[in-house]
Amino acid sequence: MSLNQKKDVIIIGAGASGLLCAVECGKRGRSVLVLDHAERTGSKIRISGGGRSNFTNLNATADHYFSRNPHFCKSALARYTPRDILSLVEKHHIAYYEKEAGQIFCVKSSRDIIVMLEKECAQAGVEMRLKCRVTDVGRAKNFTITTDQGEFRSDSLVIAAGGLSYANLGASGFGHEIARTFGLKVTQLRPALVPFVFQRRERNKFEALAGISLDSIVSCGNKRFRGNVLFTHRGLSGPAALQASLYWNPGEQLTIDLLPATDILGIFMSNRRSKMELHNLLAAYFPKRFAQTWCDHMVLSKPVNQYAEKELQEIAQTLHAWEVMPKGTEGYEIAEVTAGGVDTDVLSSKTMEAKDTAGLYFIGEVQDVTGELGGYNLHWAWASGFAAGQYA
Ligand SMILES: Cc1cc2nc3c(=O)[nH]c(=O)nc-3n(C[C@H](O)[C@H](O)[C@H](O)COP(=O)(O)OP(=O)(O)OC[C@H]3O[C@@H](n4cnc5c(N)ncnc54)[C@H](O)[C@@H]3O)c2cc1C
Repeated sequence: MSLNQKKDVIIIGAGASGLLCAVECGKRGRSVLVLDHAERTGSKIRISGGGRSNFTNLNATADHYFSRNPHFCKSALARYTPRDILSLVEKHHIAYYEKEAGQIFCVKSSRDIIVMLEKECAQAGVEMRLKCRVTDVGRAKNFTITTDQGEFRSDSLVIAAGGLSYANLGASGFGHEIARTFGLKVTQLRPALVPFVFQRRERNKFEALAGISLDSIVSCGNKRFRGNVLFTHRGLSGPAALQASLYWNPGEQLTIDLLPATDILGIFMSNRRSKMELHNLLAAYFPKRFAQTWCDHMVLSKPVNQYAEKELQEIAQTLHAWEVMPKGTEGYEIAEVTAGGVDTDVLSSKTMEAKDTAGLYFIGEVQDVTGELGGYNLHWAWASGFAAGQYA
């Protein structure tokens, strides 16, 4: 056990933001120690993008981030762009591809990104201590970090401890706790990029649709997301629903256009005299199981020619603007991220340093900066880690 080691920089968290920050500090000749209680580095990188890590997005601008201060992320995003992380990836001969909407994935495996960061850390002389539980952080002349592997001191302390989701991968509220210890405000935390759970009534109606995915537009407040919505046994998932969860607050309603590419009222009207049952007509536009279940629970299915025009208008309206009041979300257990975090008002957008506590930095998901689905969160980890890495 080493006692009382002194470093220039100690970073708590060997995830995406912590590792990139460590590389940048090391390159500046700073002595750097990274501490993490997990057994391995980059646990979330490993599982990201379904194992292929959607590690950046070519459209990584402030518009894709949610924060109490939407301007905070601009400076760091301008100084570390998707091109910068792509250059690093190219330097390590990692093959990547654009899937859709600027989303960049590894061709082979997210493991490539972790190996890249580990190599960069080794080259920059970064020391790493894994399975190291931090129990206390204090400050006298230097920062003092008490762990189950001894006590460490540093001039700069970078908190890269992430958010609350996926506790089984090492997530903890430790970063938020440290912020509070130093008197820094933490905004309200909630799981985001997470499936919705139906109220019991909807759940009973729609649980039979589990596995069905529909191209839809999900609206939450003034935000609209086009993409697939997946019915689960308990509610709604799929990219468009997950995106909406970032902007959703308990008690709010979602509005879902289940047929964004089709004028279903026009189709009803042109079949006005048809004797076809409504569910059979709808089955031309939806999976059969959906059309049947929808008609069983939302309308009385009968031959189309037996509906009054007003009824058809109402049915079309429900299909284009289905109003759903979720009971909640599936929570931190399977949320991709934590929305909310260390209030950006207390941090410098240039350096990520706490304005009132010199030498204390917060980077990555622990901050109140949350990206949409599609590589934005890892890009924020790189950008904020890079920013702090120039100053810590
Ligand atoms: C299933 C899943 C898939 C995802 N896919 C993508 C994707 O494809 N693209 C994308 O952009 N984003 C994705 N994300 C989100 C992204 O992975 C995170 O936002 C990002 O990794 C956050 O990086 P970070 O460095 O801030 O925190 P983390 O990567 O979470 O790292 C924090 C580290 O701190 C350590 N730590 C925590 N508490 C302590 C403590 N008390 N003592 C010591 N160490 C501690 C943890 O063990 C962890 O290693 C995904 C998330 C999940 C859960």
